Amino acid sequence: MKIEEGVELARFTTLGTGGPARAFARPESAEEVGELLRWARERQLAVAVVGLGSNLLAADAGVDALVLKLAGLLAVVESDGDLLRVGGGATNAVALHRARAAGLGGFEFACAIPGTIGGGVWMNAGAYGGDFAGVLERALVATADGSGWLTPAELGLTYRHSALRHGQVVLRAELRLRPRSPDEIKAEVRELNMRRKAAQPTNRRTFGSVFKNPDHELSAGRMLESCGLKGHRIGGAQISPKHANFIENADAATTADAVALMMEARRRAHERYGVQLEHEVEFLGDLEVPDL
Ligand SMILES: Cc1cc2nc3c(=O)[nH]c(=O)nc-3n(C[C@H](O)[C@H](O)[C@H](O)COP(=O)(O)OP(=O)(O)OC[C@H]3O[C@@H](n4cnc5c(N)ncnc54)[C@H](O)[C@@H]3O)c2cc1C
Repeated sequence: MKIEEGVELARFTTLGTGGPARAFARPESAEEVGELLRWARERQLAVAVVGLGSNLLAADAGVDALVLKLAGLLAVVESDGDLLRVGGGATNAVALHRARAAGLGGFEFACAIPGTIGGGVWMNAGAYGGDFAGVLERALVATADGSGWLTPAELGLTYRHSALRHGQVVLRAELRLRPRSPDEIKAEVRELNMRRKAAQPTNRRTFGSVFKNPDHELSAGRMLESCGLKGHRIGGAQISPKHANFIENADAATTADAVALMMEARRRAHERYGVQLEHEVEFLGDLEVPDL
């Protein structure tokens, strides 16, 4: 199996930032993932997976880890009764397409989440009242010691969070859906996409919500908007003029620019509302947004 060195992670994040991975591979089967996990363990090298990089900030200086991008058999989607069997590397878009073709509803919420199944399980992605925890029957998770099926409770799925840690790889998952006509699914997806388009930046390089919604009457986006942050720019990164909980790559942004914007946003929200916003975006490499 080919293990590459110094692959630029900017190619694998939707923001388009991030330095080189020390090692990079595209395993196509569970066996290949097992081999790679053991290879990394022998070298005491950390392991992380990239999905579509739509919730990911990778350090500009690079990531001292073996980074995996799941492909081949690990991106296959099949339906079986009301179960959808999905590879960890399959995109939500392909999974939703297959579900619709099989007349299976319940995954429509994922239409606007531009990630993979593995990334969705990792952070219990969700939208419009649905989330992975609500449809996930179980997920097959590999470590260097072997693999096993875990239930949502064992995965510790809560709001935009799981108990998974780097070094654990979601190889595949089973989604329990329910019969629904393809036309109804199509109509709901169209309606959700229209709502999304009206509220959030589209055709921009972003990584989705920057911060989780705090335990407060205002959402993170409304809070940052009221702090006057829409359009605020540091280096090449900008807070979206359309939705203040999004950061866009306006012009050759770096991860450091995005992190500097996050620190400024947190500082202002804390100053005005006394709230410590918690970042939703995942970090790869030596990155930190220190507590205020
Ligand atoms: C325009 C836009 C809109 C968005 N809207 C939403 C939304 O409404 N709701 C929402 O929840 N999110 C949203 N997001 C964020 C993002 O799409 C989701 O978090 C998505 O689930 C991330 O999946 P990914 O495959 O891109 O994961 P990545 O960003 O590549 O990775 C995220 C984390 O998951 C881990 N990971 C990925 N795959 C695996 C695997 N197979 N095994 C183990 N770990 C893995 C990574 O190591 C990383 O820690 C949005 C993003 C964008 C750009």
